[in-house]
Amino acid sequence: MEASRSVDNDLSRLIARHGWIGITIGKEFGGLGLGHLAKTIVIEEISRVSGAMGAMVQASQLGVAKILHFGNESQKRKWLPAIAKGECLPTIAVTERQSGSHVLGMASNAERDGDGYILNGHKTYVGNSHVGDLHGVIVRTGGGSKGLSAFLVEADRPGLSRAALKPAMGLHGFGFGQLVFDNCRVPAENLLGKEGDGLAVAYSSSILYGRPNLTAVALGIHHALVDETVAFAAQQHRYGSPLCEFPTIKQKLGQMQSRLMTARLAAYHAVHMLDRAVPCDPELINAKLINVEYALDSARNAMEVHAACGLFADRPIERLLRDAHHIFAPAGTSDVQLLRLAEFALGTSKTQWSQRLASSAGSQAYRHHGCPVSYQPASPDAATQRQARIRPTFSSIAVPPTLPGAM
Ligand SMILES: Cc1cc2nc3c(=O)[nH]c(=O)nc-3n(C[C@H](O)[C@H](O)[C@H](O)COP(=O)(O)OP(=O)(O)OC[C@H]3O[C@@H](n4cnc5c(N)ncnc54)[C@H](O)[C@@H]3O)c2cc1C
Repeated sequence: MEASRSVDNDLSRLIARHGWIGITIGKEFGGLGLGHLAKTIVIEEISRVSGAMGAMVQASQLGVAKILHFGNESQKRKWLPAIAKGECLPTIAVTERQSGSHVLGMASNAERDGDGYILNGHKTYVGNSHVGDLHGVIVRTGGGSKGLSAFLVEADRPGLSRAALKPAMGLHGFGFGQLVFDNCRVPAENLLGKEGDGLAVAYSSSILYGRPNLTAVALGIHHALVDETVAFAAQQHRYGSPLCEFPTIKQKLGQMQSRLMTARLAAYHAVHMLDRAVPCDPELINAKLINVEYALDSARNAMEVHAACGLFADRPIERLLRDAHHIFAPAGTSDVQLLRLAEFALGTSKTQWSQRLASSAGSQAYRHHGCPVSYQPASPDAATQRQARIRPTFSSIAVPPTLPGAM
């Protein structure tokens, strides 16, 4: 897969058949109902071995979010059991080449036509574009922020095609390519939520699944970077001593270990809160930021410790470095995460998706059986107090205008 750079359809299906795509789908729909912490650990462990397959798993788990949060009963009954069994790989298709992070800048559109809609335009960098069976596509049905709508589009619908995959720097074996809609007709029953819910579908999927999923991929890659570098530094000798005995190398190993521990703490803490239906959008955003930035910093240290040895493909370090760079852009670049965190600090953030969709975002274990450990769900009062802690009011500070419609 690494050498051929080809998307491995069979391996993707094999992984899906373990039920891991449906890890957050409730047992009533045939899913594992295990929640976000379990999902993080599954993605982390797969990514430790293969960032590409970790990315494949997370992309389809991300595609589940919109159906769980916005699907009607008949859409849930139709699609969730198939996804849980690994028979259907969903995706989410939001990004367009000319607008990128600026979701509201998208141009693809759907027009009502009798009992259906006609879709035109393209989506780019769609995770699992070439193995996905059911694309969750956000397009314009009108103007402004209320003018986006979400549709479920089966991969074999006439009028939907896939552009050839372009070779990418890393994550070889994971396809994130282009979908082209040319008068693609979908029935009205494939509309997710109501017309105008598209921005909410895109944002909530990105915050509640995209951020933590990419966090977990970064964490798995980071874990592998530390393991490989520690083993190399212990085994490689210079001047009669193992490299790990040199103070500068030890310093780098210590920094890598520290970053990994902090990154894992941020990742697990955020999804643990999500499982417990505690408002945690800033924690999810910060976990993505920390995990991507720390993995990239550690990748640089790993390359330095390996020196010339790290440049060759007989060791995994150069692959891990390339793969780590791929996690920067999806579900918001680090610049975008910082913008969102600044909004929380300034009290200008509009929606906490983890709060708004708490009933369907928390783990089934907590929703159905109460908390397995001694924890009481936050009362509205506690939630409000917590909000006040993370959202101080700076009444004397002039709040700058936010950038509308950024991922
Ligand atoms: C591996 C991978 C998987 C992906 N999977 C999916 C998927 O499944 N579905 C999907 O729809 N998309 C997917 N994407 C696309 C991803 O969401 C976009 O790459 C992301 O939104 C950024 O868009 P862009 O790459 O065009 O960068 P741009 O938005 O063009 O950003 C370019 C630069 O400008 C900066 N920038 C942008 N906006 C701001 C701002 N408001 N303030 C300050 N700086 C800013 C960025 O930080 C960056 O440095 C994936 C991408 C990758 C790499």
